[in-house]
Amino acid sequence: MSLVEPASQTGQESQGSRASQRLKAELQQKLQYRAEQNLLRQVLQRCGPCQPDSLFGDGQKRVNFCSNDYLGLASHPDVIRAMQVAAEQYGVGSGASHLVTGHCRVHDELAEALADFCGRQKAMLFSTGYMANVGVINALTNPGAPIFQDALNHASLLDGGWLSRGDSRRFAHRDTKDLEAMLIRHHCDSRALIITDGVFSMDGDLAPLPEQVALADKYQATLIVDDAHGIGCLGDTGAGTLSHFGLSASDVPVLVGTLGKSLGTAGAFVAGDEVLIDYLTQFARTHIYTTAMPPPLAAATIAALACLRSETWRQQRLQSLVMRFQQDVANLGLNILPSQTPVQAIVLGEADRAVKASEYLREQGVQVSAIRPPTVPADSARLRVTFSAAHTDEHYERLLDALASLPDDLRG
Ligand code: PMP
Repeated sequence: MSLVEPASQTGQESQGSRASQRLKAELQQKLQYRAEQNLLRQVLQRCGPCQPDSLFGDGQKRVNFCSNDYLGLASHPDVIRAMQVAAEQYGVGSGASHLVTGHCRVHDELAEALADFCGRQKAMLFSTGYMANVGVINALTNPGAPIFQDALNHASLLDGGWLSRGDSRRFAHRDTKDLEAMLIRHHCDSRALIITDGVFSMDGDLAPLPEQVALADKYQATLIVDDAHGIGCLGDTGAGTLSHFGLSASDVPVLVGTLGKSLGTAGAFVAGDEVLIDYLTQFARTHIYTTAMPPPLAAATIAALACLRSETWRQQRLQSLVMRFQQDVANLGLNILPSQTPVQAIVLGEADRAVKASEYLREQGVQVSAIRPPTVPADSARLRVTFSAAHTDEHYERLLDALASLPDDLRG
């Protein structure tokens, strides 16, 4: 006879099912609440490559203005080929974490190429940008130390702060006076972190980095910049927001970049001085306790970086689309936020209006995301348009015609 009685005889089954029913009921209620507010998110399936003319799961082709593939490198033949060759050489997966045999020569080559591109001594790879941010913030926070974050920082930065043992606070968006007041008010002996996006992912505007560098210096704080949307798009050589402002590596000791945007692949890196990367190798838990990036992905990213550096027309094309769009949308009388980056936001206000506007554009053959709270503040729901160097003039005109024909009640 078994020493363990079947659950049904112990009564655990019915307790278990009552508990799981309680969970289901609670989750249903929360989903229902979201649905009532028109805030329910949905997966949008795409079939085929990430290109301006995308085939979606409903069988329709639309011009895609939602992708972060800003330079059109995600389906560049050189990048695809590099991934195929590396898959033959290394296999598909890395098989282990970086410190336990998952790390290959190609990872070093990518880290070296990224460090060189950003003008840093060293760089370290992470499997995603989310993990890079959580890992670096946790590793660099002393217990109880203040962390000051821009109110509109990406969720991964905010989560990194909350998950750390530091004292996380948010300063008003791009407001250096508010940041300084906080640095004074919450001064403590432990080193503070100032954390900001370089380019804000939902507004497309830039952090006031020169002022923040000066404040970090004045109050002996460590400045961390996540330049996920700046790298490849801003600065003379596409080196990002720091280069746009003429800042040097020593001004911003910790630079985070992602690989899934202008580089068209996936993953992330942190770049800085040798001592920073040596330290993170020991203490960044999201690098240590996870499977290393697949080697073919590292090889593809090396190829993408080479394309980014040699095909400078991509950055120029992107810039010209952005400048044109700012002017053209303002002429249509829509509320476009000022932005010199591929992230362009047309603010419509209520969530419902943004959803309906996005649906309307979809019917016109253009795919544009509606971004709603909690991703953006209440009453600032918007259409978020992102551009790629791969968009042709025809694609652009299609978008503009669709926006021009937006019915009055959807214009905000
Ligand atoms: N930082 C910023 C500013 C982002 O916009 C994103 C994602 N879009 C991330 C970090 C996370 O990067 P990943 O998608 O590689 O996790």
